[in-house]
Amino acid sequence: MDGDTGVTAVNIPEGTGYFASDSDLPFLAPDFTKISEDDYIPAFEQGMAIQKAEVQAIIDNPAAPTFDNTIVALEKSGRMLGRVGRVFFAVSGSNTTDRLDEINTEISPRLSAHGDSITLNPELFARVKAVYDNRAAMSMTPEDATLLENTYDSMVHAGALLTDAQVERVKEINTELSTLTTEFGQTARAAMSEQPLIVDTREELAGLSDSDIKAAADLATEKGYPGKFAIALQNTTQQPLLPSLENRATREKLFKLSYNRADGTTDIDTRMLIARIAELRAEKAAIFGEDDWASYTMYDRMAKTPDTALDFMGQMVPALAATQRREAALLNEMIEAEGGDFDVQPWDWYRYANKVKAERYELDEDAVMEYFQLDKVLEDGIFYMAEKLYGLTFERRTDLPVYHPDVWTYTVFDADGSELGLFYFDPFQRPSKRGGAWMSNFVDQSYLWGTKPVIYNVLNIPKAPAGEPQLVSFDWVNTAFHEFGHALHGFFADQKYESLSGTATARDFVEYPSQVHEMWATYPSVLSNYAKHYQTGETIPAELIDKIEAAAQFNQGYDFGEVVTAALLDMKWAALSPAEAAALDTPAKVDAFERQSLTELGLEIDLVPPRYRSTYFNHIFSSPAGYSAGYYSYLWTEMLDRDSRKWFLDNGGLTRANGDHYRKTVLSRGGTMDYFKMFENFAGRQPDVTPMLQARGLLAGGDEAVDSEVADDGPAEVGDSGQ
Ligand SMILES: [Zn+2]
Repeated sequence: MDGDTGVTAVNIPEGTGYFASDSDLPFLAPDFTKISEDDYIPAFEQGMAIQKAEVQAIIDNPAAPTFDNTIVALEKSGRMLGRVGRVFFAVSGSNTTDRLDEINTEISPRLSAHGDSITLNPELFARVKAVYDNRAAMSMTPEDATLLENTYDSMVHAGALLTDAQVERVKEINTELSTLTTEFGQTARAAMSEQPLIVDTREELAGLSDSDIKAAADLATEKGYPGKFAIALQNTTQQPLLPSLENRATREKLFKLSYNRADGTTDIDTRMLIARIAELRAEKAAIFGEDDWASYTMYDRMAKTPDTALDFMGQMVPALAATQRREAALLNEMIEAEGGDFDVQPWDWYRYANKVKAERYELDEDAVMEYFQLDKVLEDGIFYMAEKLYGLTFERRTDLPVYHPDVWTYTVFDADGSELGLFYFDPFQRPSKRGGAWMSNFVDQSYLWGTKPVIYNVLNIPKAPAGEPQLVSFDWVNTAFHEFGHALHGFFADQKYESLSGTATARDFVEYPSQVHEMWATYPSVLSNYAKHYQTGETIPAELIDKIEAAAQFNQGYDFGEVVTAALLDMKWAALSPAEAAALDTPAKVDAFERQSLTELGLEIDLVPPRYRSTYFNHIFSSPAGYSAGYYSYLWTEMLDRDSRKWFLDNGGLTRANGDHYRKTVLSRGGTMDYFKMFENFAGRQPDVTPMLQARGLLAGGDEAVDSEVADDGPAEVGDSGQ
């Protein structure tokens, strides 16, 4: 039923150049020998023109709207654009040039406008709606039904069902939001960079390194305070130099400068901007018939409603608050032991936490690295895990063109010996690569197109000098397992439609399968297969791993607490009704709202303030939507992850039966079904927050390390670059 969508091809232009047709290489792998930088702009332009004509052909089709001639035809449109986009964004992310950066700047807004012209096309929506309204009478597979629903929902969410007057008002709101959020970002940045802490004497900076002190002297001169010292603020509430500063008064000044950023303590103030942004978002949500901004923006998430996310976070509060009090008591003991006569405050916290940590978990990171060699991590660790769990095997290739000589390629074979896809591994840091780690596809799995996945993982491991062994830190080992978890989510895709295939899942779900796969990095039988000393061949001692894991559970009352508090604060802002938001009409009322929201949580907010206070919370206020009502996602996927690790361990660990079950219920499902149902099919119950609290060391019974890695998911790739 896919072959004939009834769309006439008469008015659709032909593309030219490399991207006009599929690659000749196996799995349609990109042929980098045939691609030059000058190909991209024309290919993007042709790709957009072709898709525009394809959409017009759907609209002009004289036949009545059907699932095939409208929904599938739309899904199939933009093939050339997809081809060029996947290659361009892969290469510009991993091996960019000045020219590629220019192309990126030029093409990104044009792509975004092109996307809007389809989503907001009223004639196209009329056809989509005709099919949608008839859905009860149609016979569809569940995947077809999901595609129909997603297509319809995304257009409705953009405003397709609104009256002309409402659309006009939404456009006004969007414009004002765009202006205000840009102003917020600039003002918050000014509060961070233009108002450093000015210190009169070198003595007040005791504890800092000579280079930090020199930088402080240079900055003071630059800011017009020659002979003094200046410390610039960093983004988060806590400041990286606080632990080193011996002078408690300096610590307090630096912390308070950070904490009071843009809250009117100086002449920089974002409070009324925030109130107006919240009010506009609430008004926009109301136009769409939703109670609040969170409800409007969470429509396609796993959690779906703000209450679900709030209830979830509320479950952590008692254990977290108790841990915060316990850690504070521990730090107070350390302060007393050192002869201090004060109770720990946020500006003291990391200084004393670091001392306790050093005393308890003396860890030599360089000694740990000697057990992790990159090729063994990949082939004897990650691939071994994939074989034991899923029956996969891997064959290194040297015949495929790559965008940089340091990219390794493999054919991936399924358990029955058939070819599953291609894997590209790009491990090393280089100036042409952006920071972080991520996974994406050169080719998506799709039965509609008959394509198998071509997937890449990108890391930023420092490359060893030629002739030296390529050792890897434990953090990068964890990240490599994480990114391969995304890759498996892509390889096991079993979908007809690209837009539902593999990792094309909700923001508060996509990090879950990748996080689960981190568990195997320290699983004993995997570890003993790959973590061998590069000189002696000896397997890593268990006590070294135990130490790493115990150290990771330390200080979670703060590390985890500040994230939970920020996530809750985000949700409180997003859950305001239009009337509640409008009532925040003075700076004092904004202060009171924040204070009340934080106090209600029941956490020790004066000891552990949020990672970002409202007045400099860029994630949620510096772009029209951004991560607002979404900061909880980091915590949510961790809950799913930790609960799933428990399921694996309860059911025998690293076995084919467990792997096949996870593949069948989760990894092969893409975005085709309800995520709670997916989880229930896997675990036999709804997700539970307890294993996460245990893993974080907040409850008794935890036995695993916690990684602090987090994600910022772009629409097309799964990135892991910072919170
Ligand atoms: Zn990730």
